[in-house]
Amino acid sequence: MDSLPTSATNGPGFTAETETEPHARLNFDLDVDLCVIGAGLAGLSVALEAAQAGLSVAVLESGRIGWGASGYNLGSVMPGYGVPIADLIARVGLDHASALWALTREGMEIVRARAADEAMTDVALSDGALEVSNVDRGDRLVERLQTLGVDFGSEVEGWATDKVRDVLRTDRYFHGIHYPTAFQIDGRSYLRGLERLARRAGARIFEETPVVEIDFSGIRKRIFTPNARLRASDIVLAGSVHLGAPSRRVAETLLPVWRAAALTAPLGDRLPEVIGFAGSIADTDGVDHYRIVGGDRLLWASGETTFEVAPQRLERIVRRRIRTVFPQLGGVAIDRSFSAAVGVTVHGMPQIGELRPGLWVASGFGRQGLATTAIAGRLIARGLSHADERWKLFSPFDLVWAGGRIGRIVGQGVYLAAREGALAAGALARYRERAADRTRVRDARAEVKREQRQARVALLRSAETTRALPPNPPSRRPVPPPSAE
Ligand SMILES: Cc1cc2nc3c(=O)[nH]c(=O)nc-3n(C[C@H](O)[C@H](O)[C@H](O)COP(=O)(O)OP(=O)(O)OC[C@H]3O[C@@H](n4cnc5c(N)ncnc54)[C@H](O)[C@@H]3O)c2cc1C
Repeated sequence: MDSLPTSATNGPGFTAETETEPHARLNFDLDVDLCVIGAGLAGLSVALEAAQAGLSVAVLESGRIGWGASGYNLGSVMPGYGVPIADLIARVGLDHASALWALTREGMEIVRARAADEAMTDVALSDGALEVSNVDRGDRLVERLQTLGVDFGSEVEGWATDKVRDVLRTDRYFHGIHYPTAFQIDGRSYLRGLERLARRAGARIFEETPVVEIDFSGIRKRIFTPNARLRASDIVLAGSVHLGAPSRRVAETLLPVWRAAALTAPLGDRLPEVIGFAGSIADTDGVDHYRIVGGDRLLWASGETTFEVAPQRLERIVRRRIRTVFPQLGGVAIDRSFSAAVGVTVHGMPQIGELRPGLWVASGFGRQGLATTAIAGRLIARGLSHADERWKLFSPFDLVWAGGRIGRIVGQGVYLAAREGALAAGALARYRERAADRTRVRDARAEVKREQRQARVALLRSAETTRALPPNPPSRRPVPPPSAE
């Protein structure tokens, strides 16, 4: 895995380096109300909210802050979860699904409010997101707009194919859904800002302090690290796929999915000519997700594997995808590429809530972790004080074993099949579109020919009619009146 993004590039936001706080290891025993394991978006969000609620909080991170997926996210803040809406409704019913969806909108508001805090520097907020369809299925668009806009009360606009292609110069996309209230931030700056906010609220964060064991018995739980021991009334497991020994049961419910992304070299004037949309763009099949950063670069995520692969291979995948979608850009140079593992649950929903008295979980945020970790932090912090039990909305989504190594192999197969299926469906849709264009041209030509034929026939008929007519009678000029002479 590549190291964290650095200032090697000149764009604002994602590409900017942020200063790091001096990191401290935990070398002494500590007693706290809440111990959070993992300092990614999830752990820091819980820590911030719990510290703001007045709890004493310690966060233990085995590596550095943002070492996991959180240090690499593309910064798109969208409503929803990684599970198709229809599946969500089928599982819990429309009202429950709508309440869950509303939580992600609340998560978005939390992120937006935090991004406005002075602790967030270089967060580079920009508005709008576009979800584009690889296939020409207007009926699906209408259905989705109905669910999102009417049933779930989200702000969405349907864009016809022409409008999508006006801003994205590619024939690969058909119609789309515009989310005017979605937004982008610099993922890395947000994470650093979150760390600052959590520290400011009183949370203590220790890096290079892996939790190796937990003794859950007793009201005060004991947490073991190589050099120290903690006692806490409550523990939040926010270690995602890296959690390991402290709770194998939770760790094994997550399928690790490495997501690849790359930042191109500056692309100059070519870029605005092919991409005229400032927000983030994703296709409905989850194949590509990208946006312009720093005015002239592309930040592009594509390609997933359930086993870690070499960065060069990922780079090739991203370069190929850019060339496929926007061939006008030509061969693009990649300045940096990176990948990190997100935790994906079997049911596709995050794991948020209390597993047993005093033991909480916040993980499984998958590919959409910004809004969902923000709401997880709030729900768990409020759940700790029993002021809010909305975390129970996630109760139908149990801890389901992800299948270990076999699960990863199957997961990779399913992903590849789905991706190939999506690409094939896109190719078929474009083939149909081209075939329909060809038919239209053929029909138009045939119509012109038919009209020409009709005109010729009409001409011939009129000529024949002319020949068949008797010669014109001598003209009967009016006889001039006799002259007066
Ligand atoms: C390339 C990429 C692009 C993405 N883009 C977006 C996007 O645009 N929008 C969006 O919403 N989401 C995006 N995501 C998803 C988002 O980044 C994740 O959902 C989110 O970061 C998950 O956060 P987390 O805290 O659960 O996990 P992580 O960030 O993985 O954090 C877990 C932390 O726990 C620590 N840990 C684990 N075990 C232990 C232990 N035993 N002791 C101590 N510490 C431990 C780890 O070291 C790690 O730092 C993207 C992800 C990737 C990889």
